[in-house]
Amino acid sequence: MTTHRYAVFGHPVAHSLSPRIHAAFARQTGVTLEYTAIDSAPHDFVAALDRFVGAGGVGANVTLPLKEAAFAICARTSERAQRAGAVNTLSWNDGQWYGDNTDGIGLVRDLTGRNALDLRGRRAVLLGAGGAARGVAPALLDAGVAELVIVNRSPERADALADALGDPERAHSRYWKDLEQLGDFGLVINATSAGRGQIDASAFDLPFALTTPRTLAVDLNYGEAAIPFLAWAKAAGCHDAVDGLGMLVEQAAVAFEEWHGISPDADAVYAALRRKDDLLVTA
Ligand code: NDP
Repeated sequence: MTTHRYAVFGHPVAHSLSPRIHAAFARQTGVTLEYTAIDSAPHDFVAALDRFVGAGGVGANVTLPLKEAAFAICARTSERAQRAGAVNTLSWNDGQWYGDNTDGIGLVRDLTGRNALDLRGRRAVLLGAGGAARGVAPALLDAGVAELVIVNRSPERADALADALGDPERAHSRYWKDLEQLGDFGLVINATSAGRGQIDASAFDLPFALTTPRTLAVDLNYGEAAIPFLAWAKAAGCHDAVDGLGMLVEQAAVAFEEWHGISPDADAVYAALRRKDDLLVTA
């Protein structure tokens, strides 16, 4: 039997949980696959993908900083990838790459499913305008948030994302320095990498006025990188705070469905990751 090859491309990528998650999904569903992590610098990405296809590669996930480059190499892309301008899931079909972006649906599944949150009617502030923010912003609008305020360290990227969303009634950009004047939000989402390598909430110069005791704080980061933002959310008195582990598992589950036509049990893998189990043994 041919073993189909899959991989996650990133730079760096050694930390990625995707190989473990996809191996666990494959075990659950009886799918035979090989899934590895391939470190590829941006200048070598196209050549690395060519080598991968030559070696039997048929599907790939793409992470930081390659999502926009992945979008550019696709012959066809999904509507949600077009709205994001970024691709995190590649499928090799008929000698061409098809690109999708499952980050946004992954976040929405985690929030509305695992966290039982009704996004409809909520005011949301999105911190960041990089690849991850571009993936989640359209999905938040589709899920019915009342307003999406985008704030980024480099304001021109927030402006560009708000413009690209094409929904000026609901989605607009604001300056980071004006956060104090924006009122409170039902959802505060950190889609920046500001917390990486930090140890406390001081990485986040954010006013507590953004929150009320009903606010949910969401960090797309997970593990140690989520500690500073979650510490800020706790200090601000948010109702609850979740990290990006659930989103990570859900975006992987959507990619797995796309490649193999079968839905894995994302909850089981999420629970095993939370317990820090060895997924190959327990999931
Ligand atoms: P990008 O490099 O594309 O974007 C980084 C973003 O963080 C930019 O908006 C950047 O602002 C901002 N930023 C970086 N440092 C600081 C700082 N010190 N202060 C304020 N803002 C800062 O990364 P991605 O968008 O792809 O990823 C962002 C984070 O989300 C990553 O840490 C990643 O691990 C996580 N992620 C999690 C996923 C999941 O499934 N849970 C999926 C995808 C990403 P500027 O534009 O000014 O540079």
